[in-house]
Amino acid sequence: MIVHVNTFGLSGIKGFFVDAEINLAKGLPYFDIIGMGNIAVKEAADRIKPAIENIGYKFPLGRITVNLAPASIRKEGAHFDLAIAVGILKCAGYIKSKIEKYAFIGELSLDGVLRPVKGIMPMIQSAAQSGIYKCIVPLENADEAALVNNCKIFPAATLNEVLYITENSRNPWRICENNLHNNVSFGDFIDVKGQKEAIRAAEIAAAGGHNILFIGAPGCGKTMIASRIPSIMPKLSIEESMEITPIYSVLGMLGKEGMLIRNLPFRTVYPDVTKAGLIGGGNKPVPGEISLAHKGILFLDELAEFDRNVIQSLRQPMEAGKVLISRCGDFVEFPSDFMLVASTNPCKCGKLLEGNGRCSCTPYQAKQYLSKISKPLLDRIDIHVPVRQVCFNSEKSNETSSIIRERVIAAREKQKKRFAGTDIHLNGKMTGKQIREYCHITTECELLLKSAADLAESSMRGYEKFIKIGRTIADLDGRENINEEDIAEALQYRFLDSFRPEVAV
Ligand SMILES: [Zn+2]
Repeated sequence: MIVHVNTFGLSGIKGFFVDAEINLAKGLPYFDIIGMGNIAVKEAADRIKPAIENIGYKFPLGRITVNLAPASIRKEGAHFDLAIAVGILKCAGYIKSKIEKYAFIGELSLDGVLRPVKGIMPMIQSAAQSGIYKCIVPLENADEAALVNNCKIFPAATLNEVLYITENSRNPWRICENNLHNNVSFGDFIDVKGQKEAIRAAEIAAAGGHNILFIGAPGCGKTMIASRIPSIMPKLSIEESMEITPIYSVLGMLGKEGMLIRNLPFRTVYPDVTKAGLIGGGNKPVPGEISLAHKGILFLDELAEFDRNVIQSLRQPMEAGKVLISRCGDFVEFPSDFMLVASTNPCKCGKLLEGNGRCSCTPYQAKQYLSKISKPLLDRIDIHVPVRQVCFNSEKSNETSSIIRERVIAAREKQKKRFAGTDIHLNGKMTGKQIREYCHITTECELLLKSAADLAESSMRGYEKFIKIGRTIADLDGRENINEEDIAEALQYRFLDSFRPEVAV
């Protein structure tokens, strides 16, 4: 007798359908699982037999063969246990009702208790896409599973409860409600003393999706400003939340409540990060920080201290908005569309911008320090601004984050309309061709740009960056034309183009 049971596997952050075929034939006792399973899958036999016996059923005698199809895709994890156990119980005649409408996902312990698994949300999303709308999952995964709207989730604590659900099509213990939490609590810009220029630069960066670098001494407020950028960004849409949450799900980061991620991701990364930690990887590939920052912000703290090779690995994902991780000739893809925010000291001692000879570095040391930042990465950062120590009696900002956010949202709406029908929606993503198409500048602006570019020996790319930033400044002001003031302001946000540390010492 052959029984088919629906279940799901996980590849990267995507679920895929698995047909668990169970065949019970006469013969000497035998139990094997085939279909490209890893060790955890192979060991299922050792968990399932005692689990079935310990909930009071006799394990069927004979030859049991389990095939996890499609056999061409590698399968990992212990979450196929439940589907296999249900198939065996069905083969043995212990389950009378039909089970085709259900998907079964869960790991079994030896006493028949269902254990939670990682990545439940993407697997349930895949079930809904496959037309399977009833899913039996471990109790502890229930809230997370219920994030997928059109699926009915039946949480079960034990294998016995699973049998009850299949016979009665209901769960007497628990109904799962969709869970939607929204507890956004970022710091507010109104708490920041002084730093007008840096806050304005942050507003422009948020509005146009420009990558930004803050340069200043330790403790001058770089991190305080960077960490407040989410408070002026548009809130996540439900669609974006549904896209981000599976990334956290496969890492088991959603916790028991399985909440939908509603906060804009803000991931701080320090120089000791490994390449795998940053872009993802591992034997069973898992997403890295760049994917956890998807649709949000990746904050690289102390950029000049990062390992060059690690930073180098950011290039391709930043360009593509996704990262491909290879594994045994196969590729797993993770999304990585984030805004980059970074901070750095201006020199080794950190005091170079504080003036009055406070910096204790030699001109050579000062020159060396910032040149450690990878050029190709710096080339992808539109805005760089100095952040200086504020005086004790500096005034606090007079604008709350929510006022700034309104301007950011309005500027983003303008960009959305402008780029309708193209593959971008933010000024920061414009290519050279798009800059020429969407940013018309007057002759006066051009003259201003040329003289500034000559002065700073800027490359052509730097020149285009001024225009891009000018475009966002005009958008924030609600204007279609870019004027001289916009360009003049934009010139202030390219600090490193004309900064000569060896002279500043
Ligand atoms: Zn110094």
